[in-house]
Parts: sequence; C-alpha cells; structure tokens
Amino acid sequence: MTHNTFPDRGLLLRSLRTLVEIESPSSDRAAVSRVMDVVEGWARELGGEGHALPGGSRDFTFRVREGEPYVLVLTHADTVWPVGTLARMPWRQEGERLYGPGTYDMKAGIVGLFCALRAIREAGSWPRGGIKVLLSPDEEIGSPASRQHIEAAARGARAVLVVEPPVSDTHHLKTGRKGTGQFTLDLTGISSHAGNRPELGASAITAAAQATLELQALADPVQGTTVSAGLVRGGSAVNVIPEHCRLDLDVRVASAAEAERIDRAIRAWRPRDERVRVQVSGGLNRPPFEQRPETLALFEQARSIAADLGFTLGHETVGGGSDGNFTAPIAPTLDGLGAPGDGAHAAHEHVRLDHWPDHVRLLRRLLEEV
Ligand SMILES: [Zn+2]
Repeated sequence: MTHNTFPDRGLLLRSLRTLVEIESPSSDRAAVSRVMDVVEGWARELGGEGHALPGGSRDFTFRVREGEPYVLVLTHADTVWPVGTLARMPWRQEGERLYGPGTYDMKAGIVGLFCALRAIREAGSWPRGGIKVLLSPDEEIGSPASRQHIEAAARGARAVLVVEPPVSDTHHLKTGRKGTGQFTLDLTGISSHAGNRPELGASAITAAAQATLELQALADPVQGTTVSAGLVRGGSAVNVIPEHCRLDLDVRVASAAEAERIDRAIRAWRPRDERVRVQVSGGLNRPPFEQRPETLALFEQARSIAADLGFTLGHETVGGGSDGNFTAPIAPTLDGLGAPGDGAHAAHEHVRLDHWPDHVRLLRRLLEEV
C-alpha cells in the first residue's frame, strides 16, 4: 500500500459520518451501544474478537495471545453532546473541515484507528503480542464503569496508545495530563431570623465564602495546581441566616504529591464559626498523568516516524484528563493519536481532513513498530 493511497480519504469521511450521525451522550447507554455495535462490526470484519465487559465497555482483540504483552489502544464511544444536537449542529464538510458533535473528541480517533488496523491486516504486519482495543462508554463523565477494565488491560500491555485528539490546531501529542477532581463541601449551620436574632444563627453561606477564599488559595501555579469554586448553592430566604450551603470545587494537579497535599487540606478544612458543620465528599477521579521517561521514549519513536512521513510532531502536557491518566502509572502511555482539529466540547468542533491522513499513517506505523 503506497503513501498516496493510504488512508482512503473517502473511507475516512464516510466512516466518520456514520459514527457522528449516531448521537451518543454518556448518559444514554442505549445510544452509546449503537456506536459500539458499528465499531464491533468493523472489528469482526478484521478478524477481531469482541467481548462485552460489565458496565458497558467492550474490548476487541487482534492476534492477542495469553501471557504475551500486547499494544493497548484506548477509545471511547460517548460524547458530551445530548441527543438532538445534530439538528442544530449537523454533520457537514466545509473545505477541509469536518464538523459535527463528537467528530474531534473522539469519533475520528476511532475511525483512524480502524483504517490503520485494516492496513495492518492487509499487510499482515500485526505487532508481536497483538493489539487490544478498549472501547469505553463513559469517558466524558470520568470513566466510573470502565476504569477497572482500563487498568486491568494496561497491566498486560507493553504500550498504551490513546486516540484522543492531538492538541487543538497542532501536530502536538499529549505526553502528560493533569489529574482532575471534584470536591463537594456540604455546610450546615443554624438558621435564625436575620433581623431579630442574627446572633443565634450560624451562616452556612459565610462559611462557604470563607472556604472559597481559603481553598482557592491552595492553588500553586508553579506546580500546575488549580482550585476553583465553580458552583455554590445555599440559603432559603433573604431574611434568614442560612442553614445550608453546598460548594463544588474543581481541582487539577500535575503531580501525585500535589494531589495528596490538596486532598488532605480540603478534608482538614474547618469553618471559623465552629457551629457550622462541614461534610466533604468527592475527590480526585483521575490521577495525574505525569510526564515520564517511558512516555517520552514512545514520543521519540512517534516523532521519528512522523519525520519519515514528512511532518513535524511536537508534544505537550495538558490540563484536561483522559483515560490515559489511568494507564500512565501502569504502562508507557502516549496520548493524542487521534485526528487533528479543534473545538472539543464546543460548537465549532471539527476535524481537519487535510491533516488527518498523516496522523492515521503515524498511528499505523506506531502500532506496527512499538
Ligand atoms: Zn475524548
């Protein structure tokens, strides 16, 4: 197969349209399964074995043999877009841009992967140990049901490739990601008449304000740690000292040490007014994907393949998490091997058809050579 005919642009386009026109928000299991059924059909055409896993994940194995380390590829079938989005944000092509919900994150990643697998099958160039593809239904909500399968699959892998998109509008792969967490503080004070007996009240809103300022101050830009109070709900009436308030915090950390520091500080925090009780729930849901030498070695391999294919590849650590956060502590992980484009989780979400084939060729060679 020559450089000029692989991958087939028409096939990329048609396959992507097929997946995008099946809407698949994380909250709608039946819809997500319909995408998985299509992908499973592609896997079977290539001689892959499909397995349904508890919680809705599926895996597809190609020439994987018991006890031999394989190459693991992480994919997800869900998107952030509710059913009905297509009506106002339909699939469309404008020049070299392919628009639609889930194009960039990450339906094009799945399509590119299967184009690469098809070429590998035609060439008979399966890597030693074979390839395992994990398709999860819940990545966009933190992978509660698929995490255990992702970690278990990583334990048998010699490398993990994640087909999330590259960094927006670049040829940059992702060699590190921050860990992400959400904490909820439920504050319970004492209600009282705001005018007659304010001294008898203990304000949960005052405590939430104190928590907002003190906990956000835990952020450390040098270490890459951010803490942001994103939601606050409290009080019952304007003339009542508020008994209840709930505060939700978004936390991002670049290292395990920072994750521990923040977790400890949030759980130890107490309101100045000792009559207000605090209950903390939540925590870190994805550990940091720290940039490690084994990931950089994988990246170097990718960079030299890209140079060979005629384009320049870069890499970055990014703030958003992915399922790669779960595998990076277990096996060498390289992320961002999906389709280039822009607008993840945004109305202008799209893939760049002109740059996409280069990344499919890169993925194919990595799968063969890693
Ligand atoms: Zn994604």
